[in-house]
Amino acid sequence: MESNNENKEAVYGNFINTIIEEDLEDTSKVVTRFPPEPNGYLHLGHAKSICLNFGLAKQYGGKCNLRFDDTNPAKEDTEFVNSIENDIRWLGFDWEDRLFFASSYFDKMYEYAVELIKKGLAFVCDMSPEEVRLSRGTLTEPGKESPYRNRSVEENLDLFERMKKGEFADGEKTLRAKIDMASPNINMRDPVIYRIAHMTHHATGDKWCIYPMYDFAHPVEDAIEGVTHSICTMEFEDHRPLYDWVVNNIDFDVKPRQIEFAKLNLEDTIMGKRYLRNLVETNQVDGWDDPRLITLSGIRRRGYTPEAVRNFCASVGVSKANSVVSLAQLEYFVREDLQPKVPVVMAVLDPVKLVITNYPEGQTEMLEIENHAKDESFGKRMVPFSRELYIEREDFMEEPPKKFFRLAPGKEVRLKGAYFVTCTDVVKDENGNITEIHCTYDPATKSGLDFTARKVKGTIHWVNCETAISADVNLYENLVVPDETSDNGYSLNPDSLKTVRAYIEPSVKGAKPMDRFQFIRNGYFIADSKHCTEDKPVFNRIVSLKSSFKPNK
Ligand code: ATP
Ligand code: MG
Repeated sequence: MESNNENKEAVYGNFINTIIEEDLEDTSKVVTRFPPEPNGYLHLGHAKSICLNFGLAKQYGGKCNLRFDDTNPAKEDTEFVNSIENDIRWLGFDWEDRLFFASSYFDKMYEYAVELIKKGLAFVCDMSPEEVRLSRGTLTEPGKESPYRNRSVEENLDLFERMKKGEFADGEKTLRAKIDMASPNINMRDPVIYRIAHMTHHATGDKWCIYPMYDFAHPVEDAIEGVTHSICTMEFEDHRPLYDWVVNNIDFDVKPRQIEFAKLNLEDTIMGKRYLRNLVETNQVDGWDDPRLITLSGIRRRGYTPEAVRNFCASVGVSKANSVVSLAQLEYFVREDLQPKVPVVMAVLDPVKLVITNYPEGQTEMLEIENHAKDESFGKRMVPFSRELYIEREDFMEEPPKKFFRLAPGKEVRLKGAYFVTCTDVVKDENGNITEIHCTYDPATKSGLDFTARKVKGTIHWVNCETAISADVNLYENLVVPDETSDNGYSLNPDSLKTVRAYIEPSVKGAKPMDRFQFIRNGYFIADSKHCTEDKPVFNRIVSLKSSFKPNK
């Protein structure tokens, strides 16, 4: 398995590699494409397809095109085109000068449809969409032939041209392929290949009022571009005979081959663009790049790295069998990637005050602390220390269980990079909540000194009160939780976002949006790209430090 080995390119293929190597003597001739419909932002499932298509081309020295599959005039938008290009570049892939729009092939598609009519392989049908549906038959019964099926070539050519000219209303006529109404594969029962839709298209405006159907358009687009291997997801498996029919009945130089693989499914995650779009449009999340979303712009803002996403995609592999991948597996690759890259600092997310009663009032000393536990090249920084600190509330227990090695009355712990302190007293408010913990410190235990007289089991982190930066820190849980009463089996998790007011050591001051840190013991964090400013710092937790996923290396 490829994990975080930066020197090796991750490999995404496997059974598809075999097919390509069997098909092509010269595998550098491989041409793939990533064909998003610009009707939403890309999500992690798309990343799998991007890694696969661009990854295979890269591996063989071939080419991968970016083609916007914009044959449906409804719901498409240039905002989506821009975001998709950004996301693919961010993932680290390059389509060079091969940026294509299916809509730019409309003229050619029309000509190919005419070619089919001339060959007697397509006809104009006057049946309504409902009639077409009812005549299609079932899995066990053949369909019924359209009464318009045997129109002459001349009549079909004339009617198709008049469809194009706008002489008919939406739904009044269609162009259908003439294949086989008795085919066991329903997709082959004279499928509609052109429909009338008087709609404005985002790229072609009002030039067209007839639009090609996906099953006709897609193979034509692939063939026009010289795509050799058209990789798509399993739901198109039953459409492959139609794909082949289109490719084989039109005079193309390159006959592309469709290969299907199983979609990426993530545990407790709803990936579909339609679902994501609804969350955004109804303002249930903070835009398409809300860090809780599994969109690529969401996980980028969350702080995931392209390397982590690519390594994750390589780790899940490619197969025809459906499976569900755990979120822990995704998070594992995020941690793996961040660990060697990100400096470690101290931040307290749930602060309680610690007063060192024998430390001189008004004194501040600068302690030198390493910026990374394993990599000295990160260097060291000076961290201010004085009498009043914040520590995590959960690092103190008044009545600790046996294996609690942090702070408790009478117990001694090490303050990270500083001194040993012993708890002497606790101050509470009138409701019994702890407001201050009092300690004494032992100057002989200063970090870096050769102190061996006694050991302590626990080390806790801290932040100096006076110089701390206060920041909003966003902590996340999964966006949805299982819900049997809901149609899709999930409902929004009301606890998916929790914002806490945290204290962070002053070295983090001036962090720029997208700067990443490990907050020791609390996880990896990123300065929010939308809301973090010098005056009002905002950090998002990328991932905690605990992993439940074990890779099989
Ligand atoms: P959605 O189901 O989220 O609406 P889509 O398949 O309609 O996605 P497209 O823009 O048509 O979105 O997809 C572009 C490419 O990404 C297609 O080749 C599609 O098969 C692939 N793709 C979409 N979802 C996944 C997924 N979960 N795993 C792998 N590939 C995917
Ligand atoms: Mg789609």
